[in-house]
Amino acid sequence: MAACTRLSRALLVPGATLGGPRLPGLRWLSGSVGPGQAVYDVVVAGGGMVGTAMACALGHNVHFRDKKILLLEAGPHKVLDKLPATYSNRVSSITPGSATLLSSFGAWDHICNMRYKPFRRMQVWDACSEALIIFDKDDLDDMGYIVENDVIMSALSKQLDAVPDQVEVVYRSKVINYTWPGPFFNAETSPWVQITLADGRQLQTKLLIGADGQNSGVRRASGIQNVCWPYDQSAVVATLHLSEPTDNNVAWQRFLPSGPIALLPLSDTLSSLVWSTSHEHAAELVSMEEENFLDAINSAFWSDASHTDFIDSAGSVLQYAFTLLQPTKSSARQLPPSVAKVDPKSRALFPLGMGHAVEYVRPRVALIGDAAHRVHPLAGQGVNMGFGDISSLVHHLSRAAFNGKDLGSLSHLTEYETERQRHNVCLTAAIDLLKRLYSTTLSPVVLLRTWGLQATNAVPPLKEQIMAFASK
Ligand SMILES: Cc1cc2nc3c(=O)[nH]c(=O)nc-3n(C[C@H](O)[C@H](O)[C@H](O)COP(=O)(O)OP(=O)(O)OC[C@H]3O[C@@H](n4cnc5c(N)ncnc54)[C@H](O)[C@@H]3O)c2cc1C
Repeated sequence: MAACTRLSRALLVPGATLGGPRLPGLRWLSGSVGPGQAVYDVVVAGGGMVGTAMACALGHNVHFRDKKILLLEAGPHKVLDKLPATYSNRVSSITPGSATLLSSFGAWDHICNMRYKPFRRMQVWDACSEALIIFDKDDLDDMGYIVENDVIMSALSKQLDAVPDQVEVVYRSKVINYTWPGPFFNAETSPWVQITLADGRQLQTKLLIGADGQNSGVRRASGIQNVCWPYDQSAVVATLHLSEPTDNNVAWQRFLPSGPIALLPLSDTLSSLVWSTSHEHAAELVSMEEENFLDAINSAFWSDASHTDFIDSAGSVLQYAFTLLQPTKSSARQLPPSVAKVDPKSRALFPLGMGHAVEYVRPRVALIGDAAHRVHPLAGQGVNMGFGDISSLVHHLSRAAFNGKDLGSLSHLTEYETERQRHNVCLTAAIDLLKRLYSTTLSPVVLLRTWGLQATNAVPPLKEQIMAFASK
């Protein structure tokens, strides 16, 4: 393995071994930074879904064939030797745009050979009124795919294993310090970013990509400000069995005053729950008896207890007007399936928050994924935004590599930042606004959002624009 030779030559020290199984028996150089230390072209810090996909995308890019790429992940190597019979409770709604990225380096084929569920329609409706919006495709195209996070990770790992000469991966390697080159270089100082791991090992890189999640150490160490706040909600996830088998190709979401509840298809008989609600209610939901839990879910989807006559009448008037204007245009409301069983031990909760890095780049640094932006799961966009970052960053880096430019230079990094902030700032703000808009039962707000949703649902070009933007 050329990568092993390369790494062992650069990082040799008696007694120390690598944390991950990909490069067994290799040894690292320790001690202070010096001329003999390994210099990488790109180091990706953080091997979650986004960091691992980034390393894959670079490793499979023809312009990076002669580059040294390293992926550092604090956790262990997670491989699915065999697909478990039980579905994982952590799933992601993946957009067609993300599937295209994953296809570009071969990971999507692995996902298709493991387990995923396409959906063709999305129905989103308000618990305080009859207002709803339906996204569906006229043709037979998929709107998106529900995939277990473990399946995505396993597919990415397989594609990393396919390029051992291009990408070195070190698991159980927590980075504890980053040092940037000072403004004045001399023969003794290194012009590269220096990285120190928890066990004292050190290395250097020309470009550091921070994919280390919402509490990003790369973001903090590079002095990039993060605008963030916690939400008053946690998301409860679980794997649910439907009362009866169906085609199950609709993603359902209902906005309750306490937060949105979503049912995402996994198979003809199973769906995944993502229920965002107050922290106290979330804690109750994960610990209550199974029967009460199922009743709470069915009632959250079916109950009209939050309706008022005033909003219902005002909503009906506008709906009637739209029906007169476009008698055949609107898609019919469907009823969500009821649930009959929850997979044991599949219930878990996750506190939610919003965050956005003011800058995505600094000289020799770029942030991607949750390190750059964290959003509420109500739109199923978090990891898709991260995959979008990868498409953009790889495009700009690839051009820089082809032209023989310095990969860490701000000239192309800022192009990445501009491109992605244009998309991500809008989406982050829209998701935050939706969260706030639907967290109230105040009649004027409910009326406005009811009319807004009905109007949007009645204007197909507007819905198509929303779909096109959200499916990137
Ligand atoms: C309930 C819920 C449902 C969601 N549903 C969806 C959905 O349907 N669709 C969607 O697009 N998104 C969804 N999301 C969001 C999505 O899960 C996240 O956006 C995504 O997981 C972020 O991936 P990441 O790789 O950027 O960060 P992370 O998954 O946080 O990965 C960061 C990695 O960096 C490593 N790391 C951290 N610090 C260090 C260090 N110092 N040294 C080395 N390694 C380090 C960590 O070990 C970790 O593996 C959902 C989120 C939640 C909570």
